[in-house]
Amino acid sequence: MDTKAFKRSLHHSENYHRRGFGHQAEVIEVLNTEYQSSLIGEIRNNNYQLRRGDVTIRLAEAFGFCWGVERAVAMAYETRRHFPTERIWITNEIIHNPSVNQRLREMEVNFIPFAGSKKDFSIVGQGDVVILPAFGASVQEMQLLDHLGCTIVDTTCPWVSKVWNSVEKHKRRNHTSVIHGKYNHEETVATSSFADKYLVVLNLSQAEYVCNYILQGGNREEFLNKFKNAYSQGFDPDLDLECIGVANQTTMLKSETEQIGKLFEHTLMQKYGPIELNQHFMSFNTICDATQERQDAMFELVKEPLSLMVVIGGYNSSNTTHLQEIAIDYAIPSYHIDSDSRIGPGNRLVHKPLGKDLETIEEWLPSGPIVVGITSGASTPDKVVEKVIEEIFAIKGV
Ligand code: SF4
Repeated sequence: MDTKAFKRSLHHSENYHRRGFGHQAEVIEVLNTEYQSSLIGEIRNNNYQLRRGDVTIRLAEAFGFCWGVERAVAMAYETRRHFPTERIWITNEIIHNPSVNQRLREMEVNFIPFAGSKKDFSIVGQGDVVILPAFGASVQEMQLLDHLGCTIVDTTCPWVSKVWNSVEKHKRRNHTSVIHGKYNHEETVATSSFADKYLVVLNLSQAEYVCNYILQGGNREEFLNKFKNAYSQGFDPDLDLECIGVANQTTMLKSETEQIGKLFEHTLMQKYGPIELNQHFMSFNTICDATQERQDAMFELVKEPLSLMVVIGGYNSSNTTHLQEIAIDYAIPSYHIDSDSRIGPGNRLVHKPLGKDLETIEEWLPSGPIVVGITSGASTPDKVVEKVIEEIFAIKGV
């Protein structure tokens, strides 16, 4: 499909909106009240620390809502104001944060329901308003909504659109897009829908497997099994790895995306030589600034003598999970929670260890003086971080 032509025509449609509706001022006031925190402002102004009694809080110097998320939430609020009586749907969680999504439900911004493992768009009718979330939607979903005659409000973050543009360039030169991401993450599903041929690699170890295959060949069936669900229809590792463009899910671990890009570049240089490299390899810098800043701030924070880390963000939030991975790499006891409601009663915590189900632990805050490092993913409002800090103070009796 000519995805570029489709997008161009969609952007010219009078049913398509991606710049808000002129209610910014009133919406920002509401958002500040609902999501901002004076305590967090105070900590920011105090060099990102706050000491009370035995407890020292150390906040990462970049955390929480990124501008792409702020923009998406503001547009969703504006949409409700602009269409006060229409039915409003959203194709997915607008961002990966339970409190924000709950707030939208209260405003009667409904999520497209699932029938089994697939979204059931039969519920959407002509004239309904449908919001596309910050991490975008697949071309097929956009086409369907367009055909249904819906009003589309597109809050896709421009950083995500930048990745889609890279994939379009790969396609134009008949390159296979190798996407560093999670094949079933909504953003990667959307990104891969713009590609003709794609392969999604989750991490460096999978990328190494692919590069070995490029250089030495291997068992085709094993390859296809290993990457089941993570490649385009008809993908053939023996034919489709000669020309590669690298792309990424914007919230992956930056250092790993860079390593994977370099690995493919070196591999193709080894196979085809430096003069031919440009015919076989394409790469653009599409790591989002916000992801990079939050990860860099985390690398700074973990150098400090912390008793423990609390990482706050949705459990399906990729950028939050990567912040948690950094704490683990530095052997700091760390707890990933999605809201303050996971704390208590008493000194109890329900948290999600990396790659596992929720676990409950008792006495998670040690007695005596403690230094608690705190960060939050790009979808987490400051208000939630404030409540977590207050719970910690309450447990420690300060
Ligand atoms: S994390 Fe980056 S790509 Fe994702 S919404 Fe925020 S600014 Fe956009």
